[in-house]
Amino acid sequence: MVSVARLKRLVQGLTLVAVAAYTTIVLYQSMSTAASSSRGPSRQQVSGWQERAPRSISKDYDAINSNIILPVADPAAVHRSHNAKVTRKTSESDTNYNNVVLATGTSRPVGTQLSDVFISVKTTRNYHKWRLPVILKTWFQLAKDQTWFFTDSDDLEYQEKTNGHMVNTNCSSSHNRKALCCKMSVEFDVFLETGKKWFCHFDDDNYVNVPRLVRLLADYSPQEDWYLGKPSIRAPLEILNRDKSAQKISFWFATGGAGFCLSRSLALKMIPVASGGKFISIGEKIRLPDDVTMGYIIEHLLRKPLTVIDQFHSHLEPMKFLRQDTFHDQITFSYSHYSRDEMNVVKIDGFNKRIDPTRFLSIHCFLFSYSSFCPR
Ligand code: UDP
Ligand code: MN
Repeated sequence: MVSVARLKRLVQGLTLVAVAAYTTIVLYQSMSTAASSSRGPSRQQVSGWQERAPRSISKDYDAINSNIILPVADPAAVHRSHNAKVTRKTSESDTNYNNVVLATGTSRPVGTQLSDVFISVKTTRNYHKWRLPVILKTWFQLAKDQTWFFTDSDDLEYQEKTNGHMVNTNCSSSHNRKALCCKMSVEFDVFLETGKKWFCHFDDDNYVNVPRLVRLLADYSPQEDWYLGKPSIRAPLEILNRDKSAQKISFWFATGGAGFCLSRSLALKMIPVASGGKFISIGEKIRLPDDVTMGYIIEHLLRKPLTVIDQFHSHLEPMKFLRQDTFHDQITFSYSHYSRDEMNVVKIDGFNKRIDPTRFLSIHCFLFSYSSFCPR
């Protein structure tokens, strides 16, 4: 029979082991937290959020042709959960992604200014007169020297209106993968030539809150590798690796329609694979559109992670859920047509919808009320 004294010693021994193990875990945890928070911008692993496949995938590409494995098993369920999510979305911490890094707090490494940024806007011949006027009247006025429009034809009228900032890429004027990758490829090469510290890409249906964009970039060092943007799917994209058949690879990409930025340091590392038109070849190889190709190059080939910036917005999100009292903090807005008479636009007091169907004039006056066309 085990004596009481022996049992007591056994219990004491076990307690000691448990206390020692607990102390080690606590110590280890606090050390690793301290180490990660001292490494510049702090990051956080979070989970959750999705709505639908990226526009680019849903439109031009089918799963079979592109070897793509859409990360969404039940689109209807995803749609429901997305709606639930967005209605209660009030802050950055409320939007979740599966295993993706979110930038939270940052240090200010360098005094980044607007003149350090190269802003490219992708457009096309048929959209000049429909989409460019509202951009030229609003946010372009705050970044005239930095913003360049990449299109597919010569247009004297808009060349003049943009002070010579239209670039004819000579890419085809269609919305297919090759044409879009072709434009992105030229945008990237032109950026490299400028020597600027940051490359930011937008679509011609984006409103860019210019000073807020500059404040964002000022939080990151252009001498480090940064890929800043926002995914439109809640899980990384999975595709079949064409080099090693049957092997799956997965990566995140920033939706082009929300805008994204690359630091110069990262862009320089991309030169061997992406410069001088090589971007197009990669897009052709993986048969995916420009924004996905960008994610493939950066996340898969270069192994640099996307940093999610929640304040970038594409029209894949329902714009009406963005709250007006947060507009100063948002970096991009967008718009689209749900149907002939219903648009996906931000909800904002301001100009009449006939005068301002995209709401960009109203956003601009809300943010910069001193602008000449704003009511006083
Ligand atoms: N675009 C283009 N060529 C085209 C159609 C569109 O370069 O033939 C550009 C357009 O100017 C925009 C982007 O691609 O900057 C996305 O186009 P759109 O907003 O029409 O479609 P989405 O993909 O957002 O539904
Ligand atoms: Mn669009």
